[in-house]
Amino acid sequence: MTTSGARTVRAPRGTTLTARSWQAEAPLRMLMNNLDPDVAERPDELIVYGGTGKAARDWASYDAIIRELSTLGDDETLLVQSGKPVGVLRTHEWAPRVLIANSNLVGDWATWPEFRRLEQLGLTMYGQMTAGSWIYIGTQGIVQGTYETFAAVAAQRFGGDLAGTLTVTGGCGGMGGAQPLAVTLNGGVCLIVEVDEARLARRMRQRYLDTYTDDLDDAIRQAEDAKRDRRAVSIGLVGNCATVLPELLRRDVAVDIVTDQTSAHDPLAYLPEGIPVEEWHEHAAAQPTEFVARARASMARHVEAMVGFLDAGTEVFDYGNSIRDEARQGGFERAFAFPGFVPAYIRPLFCAGKGPFRWVALSGDPRDIAATDEAVLELFDDDHLRRWIRAAQDRIAFQGLPARICWLGHGERHLAGMRFNEMVADGRISAPVVIGRDHLDGGSVASPYRETEGMADGSDAIADWPLLNALVNTASGASWVSIHHGGGVGIGRSIHAGQVSVADGSELAAAKLERVLTNDPATAVLRHVDAGYKGAAEAASERGLAAPMIVN
Ligand code: NAD
Repeated sequence: MTTSGARTVRAPRGTTLTARSWQAEAPLRMLMNNLDPDVAERPDELIVYGGTGKAARDWASYDAIIRELSTLGDDETLLVQSGKPVGVLRTHEWAPRVLIANSNLVGDWATWPEFRRLEQLGLTMYGQMTAGSWIYIGTQGIVQGTYETFAAVAAQRFGGDLAGTLTVTGGCGGMGGAQPLAVTLNGGVCLIVEVDEARLARRMRQRYLDTYTDDLDDAIRQAEDAKRDRRAVSIGLVGNCATVLPELLRRDVAVDIVTDQTSAHDPLAYLPEGIPVEEWHEHAAAQPTEFVARARASMARHVEAMVGFLDAGTEVFDYGNSIRDEARQGGFERAFAFPGFVPAYIRPLFCAGKGPFRWVALSGDPRDIAATDEAVLELFDDDHLRRWIRAAQDRIAFQGLPARICWLGHGERHLAGMRFNEMVADGRISAPVVIGRDHLDGGSVASPYRETEGMADGSDAIADWPLLNALVNTASGASWVSIHHGGGVGIGRSIHAGQVSVADGSELAAAKLERVLTNDPATAVLRHVDAGYKGAAEAASERGLAAPMIVN
């Protein structure tokens, strides 16, 4: 492999090690997998997803990380500071093989302009959530979360499914591209507005999107026909949300649900009206201040239309991209009229330590994921889970190394992890499996516009929890642990942590997995117990989790 400039990266497959052990081979393959052109949005620039979320600071850092992982011993730990390897220390076999800190800034300095200044000096990178922690698995990683969210909307408002409803949303990128499939899996019609035609074409190739057009009248006609006939269809529209949503409102299109997943968290990654897609990145780089002001003004128009739909009785929610705050800064005062999706639908799941649990077959062999699917269904007798796994098998194209995701909670995850480890040991799975999770999580995130919005005790911005979570995972035997700032909602707005553990079939791995996959979701339960959630207190007492200040 060459050492400079853009190149095509693909993780090795099969059982031959390029590193000294699977504990180091796993982060090596996962870093490479993040940058696989089938996985990453802009791999030439090391950008994986979510605006500018990167896997490594630059190609020289990437090469150095790969080099260090190739020779790393099982009593050594590689330190990565915002995508750049900065040291290898002697530790021990229970210690993580890699410790990562991404994009962290001291409070008063935690702003986008200061971050960008430091980034231009080559001192930091934006790690997003799973990009800089090397457990991004393509759009499939978000599909189930998006499916669960729309299922919760359906349950709360539309009698259990979305048949005969129309959802309008924006942004068909790395994460947002899951929306059309998640809506149709729930039986509904989805109209998704995206400025970049290539993104829509890509999601169509991957079967996440059924069709697309650049004609608004055509898109509306198709959506209304499908809604009337109760057909589950997704339609892409090439257009700018700031133009299209006000127009849909003006035309009184009967929309049932409105949300958005443009990259609003980073105003340079939201295209304002009046700038052609081809000039976007050049314009943003040349005149960032003017671009940001125009992007915020467009977001204000976009969100004003969303609030217009809310006023007309539509179900409207923020899908975790900070668009409300950006629109507020763009001058629209009622931007917070609609809620974020976590307080609206997800928090009860966080109270039980539930969230997006994911795993990847390092062999590259889809049969290994098929075997884990059956193992999960055997372990957990749950109709909802079965429906999801079967739908995923049928509809979700693997991107890069085959992977699966499903929402499991405290008391469940370690059972899955240990079962996978047994299957690696006895050969039912051909090579080790890595097990991680998203940072959309109950215990490892402080994010007042998303995961911790509207906490019962007002502790939205308390960021001790993600730090404790990272320490807990380090103390429990995770294979790599990361602490990030600014993922999902942007610089200054979140602190979060990740863990990934390797099931390599050894007894040591079994002992580590049992602890990590119990303790990691335990921090979600404890965080919500502390905030006063009854559901979390019940979960803690059922599972014998010690919360010292709570007297049962
Ligand atoms: P991405 O950068 O890959 O995709 C964003 C898409 O929005 C791009 O395709 C872009 O062309 C399009 N876009 C930009 N401006 C537009 C406009 N004015 N009108 C229409 N389309 C426009 O980002 P992503 O990975 O898909 O993430 C999207 C957002 O969702 C981010 O803010 C991310 O942080 C957030 N996110 C939320 C969750 C969640 O769980 N809710 C998870 C991951 C990411």
